[in-house]
Amino acid sequence: MPSLRDEMEKKIMEILPPDAKFSRVDFEGPNVIIYVMNPRYLMEHSEYIKTLAKELKKYIIIRGDPKVRIREVDKLKRVITDMVTKSVGSNVIDDIVVDEPTGEVYIYLKRPVRERGKLEKDILAETGWKPWIIPTALEMGKDLPRSDIDIVKQIQLSTAKERLDFLKKLGMRIHREPIYRDARITVTGLGAQMEVGRSAILVRTRESSILLDCGVKPSSSGDEAPLIDDLDLDNLDAVVITHAHMDHIGFVPYLFKYGYKGPVYMTEPTKYLMEVLLTDYIEQAESEGRVPPYSRQDLATALYHVITLDYADHPTDISPDTKLMLYDAGHEVGSAVVHLHIGNGLYNIIYTGDMKYGPTRLLNPAHNRFKRAELLIMESTYGGKEDVQSPRQESEQRLVELVRHAVEHEGKVLIPVFSTGRAQEVLLVLNEAINNKQLPKVPIYVDGMVLETLNVHLMFPDYLNRTLREMIYDGVNPFLSEYVKPIERARDPEKRKEQVMEILQGPPAVILAPHGMLNGGPIMDYFVHAAEDERNMLVFVSYQAENTVGRRIQQGERKLTVRYYSDRVTLDIKMKVESIPGFSGHSDRRQLINYVRNMEPKPHKIMLVHGEPAKIMNLALTLELQLKIPTVFMSNGESIRLV
Ligand SMILES: [Zn+2]
Ligand SMILES: [Zn+2]
Repeated sequence: MPSLRDEMEKKIMEILPPDAKFSRVDFEGPNVIIYVMNPRYLMEHSEYIKTLAKELKKYIIIRGDPKVRIREVDKLKRVITDMVTKSVGSNVIDDIVVDEPTGEVYIYLKRPVRERGKLEKDILAETGWKPWIIPTALEMGKDLPRSDIDIVKQIQLSTAKERLDFLKKLGMRIHREPIYRDARITVTGLGAQMEVGRSAILVRTRESSILLDCGVKPSSSGDEAPLIDDLDLDNLDAVVITHAHMDHIGFVPYLFKYGYKGPVYMTEPTKYLMEVLLTDYIEQAESEGRVPPYSRQDLATALYHVITLDYADHPTDISPDTKLMLYDAGHEVGSAVVHLHIGNGLYNIIYTGDMKYGPTRLLNPAHNRFKRAELLIMESTYGGKEDVQSPRQESEQRLVELVRHAVEHEGKVLIPVFSTGRAQEVLLVLNEAINNKQLPKVPIYVDGMVLETLNVHLMFPDYLNRTLREMIYDGVNPFLSEYVKPIERARDPEKRKEQVMEILQGPPAVILAPHGMLNGGPIMDYFVHAAEDERNMLVFVSYQAENTVGRRIQQGERKLTVRYYSDRVTLDIKMKVESIPGFSGHSDRRQLINYVRNMEPKPHKIMLVHGEPAKIMNLALTLELQLKIPTVFMSNGESIRLV
C-alpha cells in the first residue's frame, strides 16, 4: 500500500510545473514541507501554493532544497544582515546562530519587528535557510532580568538536532491515515471541575487523545495535582496550553518526567512565561525545603517539545482527525481561546481557558467569532450572582485614591500580583496618575518575576492592544518610568531582609510583587514585616482562590500563621485591607453571559469549568434560562460523551 507521503508526492508532481523543480516532501511536526530547487519561482507564483494546500488539505511550507542553500556561513550572515537592515534598521541584530545539520538560522534582534513572518519568508526565499527571528527587547529592556531569554535560547540551540527528530516522528504520527471511520468524542474533567485550579481537560476521539491545560491548584490540602495518574502518556497526541498561569501550566513538566514525548502547543509569549514561572516554582519549593514534583531537566525537556502558534493563524493538524486554532483570550499576554476542529467538520470544541470579554489597558477582549462551534467549555471564576465588577475606570480611580490615602498617612501599599497581567496594568495606571499629578511622586518598587515577564511584553507587542503595540514599536517602554524601581532580589536571606527593611523603613511607597494570592513568593518578605503597622495597606487586585492566605485575609481573618522561608510566623494584621475586583483579568458575570450571547455561531451546548460550585450552578441556570442553551458541569474524574 502506498504511504500517505507517496500519495502526496504524486499529487504534488501533478500540480507543480517543472520550473519549480520539486525535489521531495517531508513532515515537520504539524507542517508539510515541500522542498524545491527553485523556491523563488513558487514565491512569485503563489497560486500553486494555494492549489497545493487545497488539494492536499494540509498546511504546507515551501523550502529550498539544501543543495540550493547559500553555502558559506559568512556570506549567509552578510545577506541576512543586509535584509534585516533594509527592513528594520541598522544595528538591530544581537546575534546570528547558524545550525548546519538542521538548515536553520536563529536571528536574535535587539528590538521587536513588525511583520516578522514576512521577513522570515523573504530570508528563506533569498538564502534557502529556515530562519527563526527572535526579538529579545534588549534595547528597551536593558535594565530588566533576561535569564528566560538566555535559557530558552540555550535550550533551542543545544537541542536543535533532537528537536528536528522529534518533529519528524511527530509529523509521521499526525499525518497517518485515520483508522476508524465512526465517530465518538468524550470529554473528561481531570481538574478545575467545580473548583478553581489544576485545569486539565481530556478530549478523546477513537483516533486521538488531547489534553487541554495541565495545571496545579494553589492549595495545601493534598489536592494540588490534576488526576493524570491514569493518563496513557504513550497515546496522548498533544497537550494544548491556554496561558502561563500555574493553574494551567504548573504540571506540564511532570508529564515529561513520566514519559510523555509529544508536543505542547501554545503561543510564543506563553513559552517564555512558562520558563520564568516554572523555574520559580522549582526554586520556591527548594527554598522552603520541599521536593519539587519535577526537575529543571524535566522543564527543559518540556520546553523543547513546545510548538508555538500565532493567534488566528491557519488550522494546524495536531492528530489525524483534529485541527487546532488559537485566538486571543484577553486574560494575559499570549493567553488563548482554543478551537478544536474534530473530524473534518464533525464537531467543534471551543475552550476559553481564562478570559476577559472586555478591553483592558493591556489587551484586546476575548475572541468569540468562529466558523463552527458545537461545545463551548467556559471558565466561570466570576460567574456568581454577586460577581458584578465595577467599570474599569472606577476601579482605576479607586486604586489611585487608596494609594494617595496610604501615602498621605506615611504608609506603604502592598499589592500582591501574579507575574503577568494585573502587575503590568497597575504599573500603567500608577505611572499615568503620577504624570497627571493625581498622585504624588512615590517610588513604585517592583519585585520578583514581574520584571522578567515585562520583557515578554516588550518582545511580542503583537499580543497587546493597539495603543501599547504602537508605543512599543515606536521604541517607548510604557511600563517603566523614573518612579518605577526594579528590585533585584538578594539571594542571601539576611541581605534580603536588609533590602526589604530599607524599603519598609523609607518614605511612602508602592510595592508590587508576586505571589498574587500571598501563597509564598517575594511579597511575603514585605507582608511579614509590614502587616502589623496600621499605616500600611494591602490591596488585592486579583482573584483569591479558596484556601489561600489571600482569601483568608479577604474574608476577615486578622490573626494568621504563615510560612516564611522554612519557619512559620504568627501575625497580628493591623494594616488596612482593600479589594478592587474590577481589575480582574477574568470576565465578570455580565461579561461571561455576554460572551455567549454575542458568540457566533451560538454553541449547541455549554460546559462550565474553573469556578466554585455555587457560582457554576447559578451561572448554568442563568445561561439555560436566558439564552436557552443546554449547560452542563462535571466533577473531577467524570466524563461526558458528546458524539
Ligand atoms: Zn489565568
Ligand atoms: Zn485559571
